[in-house]
Order: sequence, then structure tokens, then C-alpha cells
Amino acid sequence: MKVVLLGPPGAGKGTQAARIAEYLDVPSVASGDLFRDHQKRDTELGRLARSYMQRGVLVPDEVTISMVTEWIETEAGTGGFLLDGFPRTLGQAEALDGALSNTDGLDRVLYIRVSNDELVRRLTGRLVCRGCGATFHRVSNPPPAHGACEDCGGELYEREDDRPEAVGKRLEVYFSETAPLIDYYREAGILREVDGEQSIDEVGRVLIGEIGSGS
Ligand code: ADP
Ligand code: AMP
Repeated sequence: MKVVLLGPPGAGKGTQAARIAEYLDVPSVASGDLFRDHQKRDTELGRLARSYMQRGVLVPDEVTISMVTEWIETEAGTGGFLLDGFPRTLGQAEALDGALSNTDGLDRVLYIRVSNDELVRRLTGRLVCRGCGATFHRVSNPPPAHGACEDCGGELYEREDDRPEAVGKRLEVYFSETAPLIDYYREAGILREVDGEQSIDEVGRVLIGEIGSGS
């Protein structure tokens, strides 16, 4: 199946992605992780992306679209996949439809809905592992007492764009550029909306239930 996880920054997309990809047995990718990987390797794309990410705005469509469609070609081919954080603009959604035009297209878009106050609370308490990218939260999903990643033992850090100044901008950008995709996919009949303000396990259970729900 070809599935997209849609939702505002902090909704819990990354937290749920691994279990959904495992359930579907498909490769998964977060566009934000691809950009962070380019930054770590100090590539030209990484340096370009950093200047946008630091400000909490979107990286331009043309570079984002080619980065993700190349990932699809090399990692998923014509098989299934799970995308987290892409598409984020109507231009990206149309480009994805174009890239999938010789397949049956996307099967599901899972929209995780979370209120603004909760998003701010989640983003400003988020801790991410430098080693494997696993995500924790200081209060709601705390790392083990030794303060290192539960999965790989890696160092945990706070993302630069989770600072309160950048968080406000990211939410603004989400509402103006990404939220219109909710209607785009609702009209296509493939959107499933899930209440993201439940426990991590419950959100995961409901998302998996929605993947198989009738069209
Ligand atoms: P996204 O990938 O959508 O930006 P994350 O998966 O990184 O969001 O989650 C943002 C923060 O919220 C993390 O600190 C994560 O541990 C926490 N979180 C995720 N899901 C829940 C949930 N259902 N309840 C409480 N906290 C959550
Ligand atoms: P994320 O890890 O999903 O929170 O993304 C972090 C940042 O990476 C965003 O604030 C954007 O600057 C950039 N980014 C990630 N995905 C996209 C995308 N699909 N389009 C444009 N920019 C993106």
C-alpha cells in the first residue's frame, strides 16, 4: 500500500511511522529526516535546506519534490511506501500524483488531528536521538532515566526548529500551506482522520484500523 501521514508539526507522525511501516511491511521515509541527513553530510542540498529549516519555513518545492521522488524510485520502486511529512504543499501533492501516474496511486492519507496548544507543548518538550532519530518527550514519553535513547543508546538533543520562536512560524506555515491538503485528499476519497490526542498506543491502533477501512 502507498500511504501518507499528514498532520501539523508535533502531531505524532514520526512517533507512529515505524509501527505503521512495520504493519504494512513497506519502506518509510520522513522528508525532514532526508534533509537532516543531508545536513549531517554537509551536502549542497543540506546547506540550502538548513537556511529554510532554521526559520521554520518550507524548503522550496522543486528540491523537495526531486529528493522525495528519487527516494520513491530507489527505495520503493512501484511497490508500497509510507511517507511522513511529504507532501506539504498542493504543488508537492500534484507532483506526487504525477510520479505515481503509472500505478494505482495513493491508497490512504492518514491525517492526525491535534489542537494548537497540545502541538506547542509537544514540540517544545521533544527530544530526538542523534543516532536513530527516535523521538521522546520530556513529560509524555520520557526517555530512560540514563537520558540516552532507549532503542540505540544514542545521545538525545532538542531540534533547533523546536525553539518557541520557530514553532510559531512552523504552525503558521502548516495552516497556510499544508492544511489545504486535507480537503484535497478528502475530495479524492482517501483521507482518514484520527484524533491524535490519545495515548501513543491508542493513536497507533486507530491509525492501523483506518488503513483497512472501506473506501
Ligand atoms: P511529528 O513527527 O508529527 O512532528 P513527533 O512524532 O516527533 O511529531 O511527536 C512530537 C512530540 O510529541 C514528541 O516529543 C513525541 O514523543 C510526542 N508525542 C507523539 N505522540 C504523542 C501522543 N499521542 N501523546 C503525547 N505525546 C506524543
Ligand atoms: P519535520 O522534520 O517534518 O518537522 O520537518 C522539518 C523541516 O524540514 C520543515 O520545517 C521544513 O523546513 C523542512 N521540510 C520537511 N519536509 C518538507 C516538505 N515536504 N516540504 C518542504 N519542506 C519540508
